[in-house]
Amino acid sequence: MSSTIKVLVRMRPAKPGETHDTAIHIHDHCSQPDTSSCVKIPTTANRADAEFRFSSCFNDTATQSDVFKQDVAPLIPSVFKGLTVTVMAYGVTSSGKTYTIEGSNRDPGITPRVIEGLFASMPESCTPTVSMSYMELYKEDVYDLLADPGKKSKLQIREKVDGEVFVDKLSSALIRSVKDFRKIYDKATKQRAAGSTKLNEGSSRSHAILTFETVVVDTVSNRALTGRFRIVDLAGSENNKLTGNTEAARMAESSSINKSLTTLSKVVKAINDGASRIPYRDSKLTRILQNSLGGNAVCLMICNIAPVLALRRDVYNTLLFASGVQ
Ligand code: ADP
Ligand code: MG
Repeated sequence: MSSTIKVLVRMRPAKPGETHDTAIHIHDHCSQPDTSSCVKIPTTANRADAEFRFSSCFNDTATQSDVFKQDVAPLIPSVFKGLTVTVMAYGVTSSGKTYTIEGSNRDPGITPRVIEGLFASMPESCTPTVSMSYMELYKEDVYDLLADPGKKSKLQIREKVDGEVFVDKLSSALIRSVKDFRKIYDKATKQRAAGSTKLNEGSSRSHAILTFETVVVDTVSNRALTGRFRIVDLAGSENNKLTGNTEAARMAESSSINKSLTTLSKVVKAINDGASRIPYRDSKLTRILQNSLGGNAVCLMICNIAPVLALRRDVYNTLLFASGVQ
């Protein structure tokens, strides 16, 4: 029986200059007798609010530390047991995915907190090694974000005889400290492809997949256990009609993003429904994540929303997606 994928919602604050959509509410107590929280959003002017329920929701006052402590930090020990942990951020451009994943120097997000957590909670009786790899999936092509910019070639996805799916020739860097990580990560992040859409100048049109791999050798048994913590900043899930993506190149990007996100939703739903066939092979994103979603992997999907009037339809679509897969 494969473990299910937890889905949660995080709403960012409205920013100066944005028209705050005050009609979107996060409640800790839903109308149903349940411990979960829910998001209410008006559908049309004349109809009642739609109510979506989740096991956890973070409202616009939640801090990076709140999200990390409640839903991410408890996953770290699984890595040292040899499991794979996957955390993904889903949402339209400008909904707060990158903020949630990366954060800023002043307000670090999940990634810097995870690497700190990994170093801080290494099992004492072992000799651990931590390495990282970082790839980008852009228009169905895989690129190594740790490679020199001049050597940015497309990588191939392959499968080992034991069924493990991997990206061939993807480099990995040894990390001895949080400082080491920072240096490598900052350089790599600058390489991520960015385009501009009407919604957000410099928005990310690619999926970024960061993997920390730990190998712990038990000093008594000498057995090595490999665990992984994967953090995925997905491309924006916006509807092309709203973003004015009519130009051919942007349309091509969008259709590949739509395909991968649609397949991801089918995969997550199939896992959560306990289906016997999971359509991993239907997109490169889900193919790369094949061993990191379902099975023994421990997964969390954070659905980011923004209380901005112009984005209400997108928020509704994100909530539909989130409630449909959980
Ligand atoms: P995305 O990656 O989904 O396109 P970003 O993470 O870039 O969105 O967020 C859009 C903007 O909102 C950025 O200026 C970011 O700093 C800000 N932002 C996002 N989430 C929060 C938050 N929880 N608190 C404060 N500002 C946020
Ligand atoms: Mg982003």
